[in-house]
Amino acid sequence: MISSKEILIKARDGSYAVAAFNIHNLETLKSVAQAAADLNAPLILQTTPGTVRHAGLKYLAAMANAASQENGIPIALHLDHAEDVGLIKECIDGGYTSVMYDGSKLPFERNIAVTRETVEYAHARGVQVEAELGRLGGREENIDVSDYESSLTDPEAAVQFAEETGIDSLAVAIGTAHGLYKGTPKLDYERLKQIKSRVEIPLVLHGASDVPDEMIIKAVDCGINKINIATDIKIAFVNALRQYLAEHPDENDPRKYFSTAMDAVKQVAEHKIGIAGCKNKA
Ligand SMILES: [Zn+2]
Repeated sequence: MISSKEILIKARDGSYAVAAFNIHNLETLKSVAQAAADLNAPLILQTTPGTVRHAGLKYLAAMANAASQENGIPIALHLDHAEDVGLIKECIDGGYTSVMYDGSKLPFERNIAVTRETVEYAHARGVQVEAELGRLGGREENIDVSDYESSLTDPEAAVQFAEETGIDSLAVAIGTAHGLYKGTPKLDYERLKQIKSRVEIPLVLHGASDVPDEMIIKAVDCGINKINIATDIKIAFVNALRQYLAEHPDENDPRKYFSTAMDAVKQVAEHKIGIAGCKNKA
């Protein structure tokens, strides 16, 4: 495996994005890896701290290593949305090549200080660090416009944050939210362009599931270099599994009932790799 720093710098210099997929088990991991290999694309596998608890750090690192050895494409294993520096250090020591420290709920100065500490530990071990400034969420009915605006990433603060923390990539809040959207999301492309013009490091778009393709493509044109896909993978897997089991209520062989779910995940992954623009960029 390699650090996602190398993958993301290449993406920034080539003006495309890499699709990063949240995986939960062997089946989802193999499916996205197969999609990336078939399209000759670089791949960032990512897991939340909850998935580390679910599947186990050693299992995840071993599976990602196997995928890297089997597929002949650049693969990084990234820890997504970690708020616990202790867990970040465990994952770095256990084979993760990329981590996100998420201090977006902290006051600005505190976010800088803890992110900086994470960067020092990670960089000494060749691991890249993503951090977040601003709050993801999207426009909720009960928040007024000024609260919504202030939750988005401020371009000037982004410059200071990147300089003082030494991070390798920055997750920006420009209007996306995690999970499914109630209506069509509204992305602040002008804000994204302003951040891009001031900050050199690669920019990351969280909450990229359930966003219309043309909006992702435009965000990539405006400077996004990593799109995070979690919900769309989970939905493809479970919908295909539900349908298979409904049609084959007596089936008890996981090699059979998982196979259509894996095909569904692979199809979604191939589509996302296409709109990210990282096909043939391995
Ligand atoms: Zn996220």
